[in-house]
Amino acid sequence: MESSQKTEKRARGRPLGCAKTVTEYKDRFQKHYYKHRDEISERRRNLYDARKKAGFCVNCGGPRARGDALFCKHHRKYTTVLHEVVGRLAT
Ligand SMILES: [Zn+2]
Repeated sequence: MESSQKTEKRARGRPLGCAKTVTEYKDRFQKHYYKHRDEISERRRNLYDARKKAGFCVNCGGPRARGDALFCKHHRKYTTVLHEVVGRLAT
């Protein structure tokens, strides 16, 4: 992995190299996403923070697993497996 990729900063909620305005859309869903991107992003972040504060799983809103700060049983297992796979791919 290149070290320059890690240090490179990006705007929150916006992928690198993604233009701010897109004129041609693949379908109506993509058009809606690009038109309301900031709004959607803001709503998602607010939901995440609200769930985090209230003590529910940040992904699904279910009850948290014991001893876990953010996730329910399912999502803790899911993220653990995901991190294992990504770690295996990186090496
Ligand atoms: Zn969950």
